[in-house]
Amino acid sequence: MHRLSRSPVVLSVLIAVFASICFPRALFAWDDHRRVTRLSLESIESGTVLPSAVFETLESALPAMQSGATREEFANRLGIRGEKVDWNWAAGEEKPLSAVEVLSWSAQEPDNGMDQDLDLGPDQKYMGGAAGPSSQGIRHMYFPKWDWRRPLATFHFPVRAMGMAPERAQLCLDLALRAAAGGHRFWSYRFLGWGLHYVEDMGQPYHASEFASVRLLPLFTLFRGWEAFIAETTRRVGNFHLAFEYLTDFLLDRGDAVEQAFRVPDADAAFKRALEGSADQPVKEAVLRLAEVSNALAPELAAAESTLMGKILLDRNMELIPGFTDAQGKPKIDFKAVLADGASAASMPPSTKKFFKTMNVALSNTGVAARWYVNAFILRSR
Ligand SMILES: [Zn+2]
Repeated sequence: MHRLSRSPVVLSVLIAVFASICFPRALFAWDDHRRVTRLSLESIESGTVLPSAVFETLESALPAMQSGATREEFANRLGIRGEKVDWNWAAGEEKPLSAVEVLSWSAQEPDNGMDQDLDLGPDQKYMGGAAGPSSQGIRHMYFPKWDWRRPLATFHFPVRAMGMAPERAQLCLDLALRAAAGGHRFWSYRFLGWGLHYVEDMGQPYHASEFASVRLLPLFTLFRGWEAFIAETTRRVGNFHLAFEYLTDFLLDRGDAVEQAFRVPDADAAFKRALEGSADQPVKEAVLRLAEVSNALAPELAAAESTLMGKILLDRNMELIPGFTDAQGKPKIDFKAVLADGASAASMPPSTKKFFKTMNVALSNTGVAARWYVNAFILRSR
């Protein structure tokens, strides 16, 4: 980091990179928000904190929402692509649905296109552009403004704070409260679930930091020209971001102990205290705190990932942006080999331990924030 701050050349290269870089990171996020939500909210499910809900049409809730008389008007007021929302999900289902069922289903929905192909302001061009799947990026990420104490993790161009995830989380909570006040429990959970999506996205360190390690900057490729340099930077940043998410999925798929992280408090201690001590702080503020701790965790995560599988991720043939499997359907990374499976906890290499530790903090922060968000709703809807 010190070398970086002493080097105006590196800084100007970084500025130029971020003016040019654009890749579909927003596509991925936590790949499976349904599972993240379910794991994070299990304590709520096992209690009787939130009663179950029965499906009702949006139209019956619209008068209470005071945001338009039709679906189309409502979607326009929210600034979303209404045709991408499954408004009739659970229609025909007569038995009551548990709160966590509705919340976890709805938490996946913001990745289904409602935030895509919209004009979302001047910063959108730096966070995925205005067209296609990556155009939702600005609503699903937040980069804190540049901070000289963390020059690399907070670096992006322009250097101001960018991204709308905290304000979307706030908006969805407001909608949930309005629906609840009107007696429309089903829709209050639907909107709260949307909001959980943005909260969970901010628990992913790569959603809060554009650039977490100097290893991701391939200065030597500058000799091959600017385009080659941008392509290589994009490939490296993409590989690190995606490998983290694929590995998380891999571990969750096999029921690894890592899923405990969502429930138990391995989180950043100050963050946990700040959130749990104050359920009535503004939602936007709480989500901004999460973005800050995620941003601060990003360099540690990138370093742990680099030690664990840097060789694989930096290999010139490794390309995760098009997908995790090759043309034959074979995974591009053998995570079992990466994790030295079969090794006992005691004999686990320090690099693996370090990686798990960092991953646990990210997952645990996400769980703490998700529970805080639902509790904030409960507290305010009493
Ligand atoms: Zn997302």
